[in-house]
Amino acid sequence: MALIVHKYGGTSMGSPERIKNVAKRVAKWARAGHQMVVVPSAMSGETNRLLGLAKELAPSRVSTAYHRELDMLAATGEQASSALVAIAMQAEGLESVSYAGWQVPVRTDSSFTKARIESIDDKRVRADLDAGKVVIVTGFQGIDPDGNITTLGRGGSDTSAVAIAAAMKAAECLIYTDVDGVYTTDPRVVPEAKRLTTLSFEEMLEMASLGSKVLQIRSVEFAGKYKVPLRVLSSFTPVDIDVNEEAVSGTLITFEEDEKMEKAVVSGIAFTRDEAKISVLGVPDTPGIAYQILGEVAEANIDVDVIIQNLSKDGKTDFSFTVNRNDYQRTIDLLKDKVLPKLGAQEVVGDTKIAKVSIVGIGMRSHVGVASKMFRALSEEGINIKMISTSEIKTSVVIDEKYVELAVRALHKAFELDQA
Ligand code: ADP
Ligand code: ASP
Ligand code: MG
Repeated sequence: MALIVHKYGGTSMGSPERIKNVAKRVAKWARAGHQMVVVPSAMSGETNRLLGLAKELAPSRVSTAYHRELDMLAATGEQASSALVAIAMQAEGLESVSYAGWQVPVRTDSSFTKARIESIDDKRVRADLDAGKVVIVTGFQGIDPDGNITTLGRGGSDTSAVAIAAAMKAAECLIYTDVDGVYTTDPRVVPEAKRLTTLSFEEMLEMASLGSKVLQIRSVEFAGKYKVPLRVLSSFTPVDIDVNEEAVSGTLITFEEDEKMEKAVVSGIAFTRDEAKISVLGVPDTPGIAYQILGEVAEANIDVDVIIQNLSKDGKTDFSFTVNRNDYQRTIDLLKDKVLPKLGAQEVVGDTKIAKVSIVGIGMRSHVGVASKMFRALSEEGINIKMISTSEIKTSVVIDEKYVELAVRALHKAFELDQA
């Protein structure tokens, strides 16, 4: 008998019929002898609906008080769906109980709308499991040290599930979603994308951080830190397929490189439209510039991604970087207010119509010429590269947003991912 965590995403929870399917699937696993913890997301569209209502009432508030209420609001989506799963489980003839994050409790810090899990007390859940119940725990939420409800950022139910699996030392965490695994790239953009049967943890970490929203990045970080066996699979397969067959389907995130397999140099392509580019022009080219610009940005708790400093001319240089699009206006305002006057720089300009496309693969460590192949494929499509950033197992380029799908398709073909 093993302890297994199932997580079901929004589409998998999308209607009473789908919730019934979730309950039937979980019941099948429970009857196969497993102790089951289920982490549901809000029903599809519900989180957007709730946040949309808040926006109608107060479009652009950025205060802690406002963010606290957003969490209070958004957390209700998962609370409703957890109760519905428990009800459906009971209808399947199993004993089941649901808990909101604060009842477990899942303890987080106080960063409303993007809180981090700090600890999970599993006593209550374990007692229910030992009493033979299927336990449902809300995804996406927790409680801060002052007793406020927090949420973990969009897509955060993945992280809830993995964190619970880690805390309870579950045998495996299964992420059920609307695709049957992790693909070489988003199958909605490239229909020829292929499902990967395994993907190394490091590659998954890069894919997630570079924009593949199939798993929230923090869930992958948790899985890595606590070595949680993690699998992504479909909730749309027939519910009555054999448990053993289901248990090996989808994509397994592995912690060791499979030496027997000839690894592709590039395993996947990720992309994101979530960033914006900001340039500070005419900065005096003296030591400490990067610190003076980015220090202020970091101080404001804004994450910076790709950075370039151009060649200097007449002692002046241009300094560009990308931030999340949500932080764009705040960053521009901050630079105008605090950095321009101090540095004597000329101007701050920005571009929100950009996208970042990345190739990811462990094989890049031991192969040369991978980046140049990427640049050639893009140039053959006439796509201009605005920024480049590389690390051991990825190369990213920033391009015009309008070319993102063309770029992803061209790279998918150039690296022969459709033939995997
Ligand atoms: P859920 O609601 O189940 O959490 P998400 O929408 O968050 O589902 O994640 C699943 C979606 O991720 C898929 O429908 C797919 O469009 C997208 N996706 C992006 N990149 C990939 C990839 N490399 N492999 C599989 N799916 C991907
Ligand atoms: N419901 C939340 C969201 O839409 C969390 C999740 O689905 O993972 O972001
Ligand atoms: Mg998701």
